[in-house]
This record gives sequence, C-alpha cells and structure tokens, in this order.
Amino acid sequence: MLISEPKIAIFPGSFDPFTVGHEFIVNQGLPLFDHIIIAIGHNTQKKSLFSLEKRKYWIKKIFATEPKISVESYTNLTVNFAKENKAKYILRGLRTAADFEYERAIAQMNKALFPDVESVFLLTTPELTPITSTIVRDIIRHGGDATKFIPQALSQEDFEIK
Ligand code: ADP
Repeated sequence: MLISEPKIAIFPGSFDPFTVGHEFIVNQGLPLFDHIIIAIGHNTQKKSLFSLEKRKYWIKKIFATEPKISVESYTNLTVNFAKENKAKYILRGLRTAADFEYERAIAQMNKALFPDVESVFLLTTPELTPITSTIVRDIIRHGGDATKFIPQALSQEDFEIK
C-alpha cells in the first residue's frame, strides 16, 4: 500500500493584525491541504504594533475548532522554515496586480533557493480586496471601529493596544 505524505502548507505573514482577508485565504486553502501552519514572520528589527503573543492568541482563537491549522512564529528565511516543517507549499493571497508582482518575485526567489517548495496563490474576493493590515492598524491606532475587518471570533477588545 502506498502511503502518501501529508500535504503541508505554510501561510506566512506579519498578521499585524490578522484580518478577514487573511481568514478568507486560510479557509479557502483548507480543502487543498492536510495541514496549514500559519507562520508569523517575526522580524526583531521591524517594530510591529501588536506583540507576537497577541498575534498568536488571535489566530489560535479564530481557528480553535479547526484541527488542520496550527500557529507558529519564525525568524529565519521562509523557505527554511517550510523545509524544517516538511511543508512543500507556501500559501499566499492575491488582491491586486501589485500583489502579484511582489509575490511573483518572492516566489521565484524561493523556488531558486528551494525547488521542492511550491507557492500557491489564492485570489481574494472583491469585498476583501481593499483590506490591508496597514489600514486596519491605522484604524485601530486612531480609535476607529475595525470590527468589520477583523475575524468574527475576535472582538475589538482583543485588539486593544496596551
Ligand atoms: P506580509 O508582510 O508577508 O505581506 P501580510 O500579513 O501583510 O504579510 O499578508 C500575508 C498574506 O496575506 C499575503 O500573501 C497577503 O497578500 C495576503 N493578504 C493580506 N490581506 C489580504 C486580503 N485582504 N485578501 C487576500 N489576501 C490578503
């Protein structure tokens, strides 16, 4: 009997914060893979608005009932993190042509570094296209109501900046 290897994908990002746009991509990816590791890229040189602990906490809460999803953080190269976790796929979301150009360069460089890893792009919906972490971060930072842009499992209090 041939036992096939589980299809593991990583979904890397900053998730500062995690938005409904990210949630959509993960949910669309679920039927394609046996396991998705949401991988929070943690750059010690780059200041994020939300702590790593908080970002992990939200993602765990959003996908609490989904056994196919786990959350990790990493500081090394994305392809190396994929390799360490036996992930053959890198899942990314596309909103616009600008996203495509940016993602194309990263995916082709990743392929040059580690040919066994395939990047998989999923297209977002028209309603989710304008949602970026940068804008949601600004709304939260300036006390606006960001509930429409954050996953339903979370509340605005989860995003309080302390
Ligand atoms: P990074 O800093 O690596 O770009 P992000 O957290 O901004 O990390 O995004 C992670 C992934 O989620 C990227 O592939 C990005 O294109 C995708 N993404 C972000 N927002 C949306 C959205 N509204 N719809 C679909 N994909 C999205």
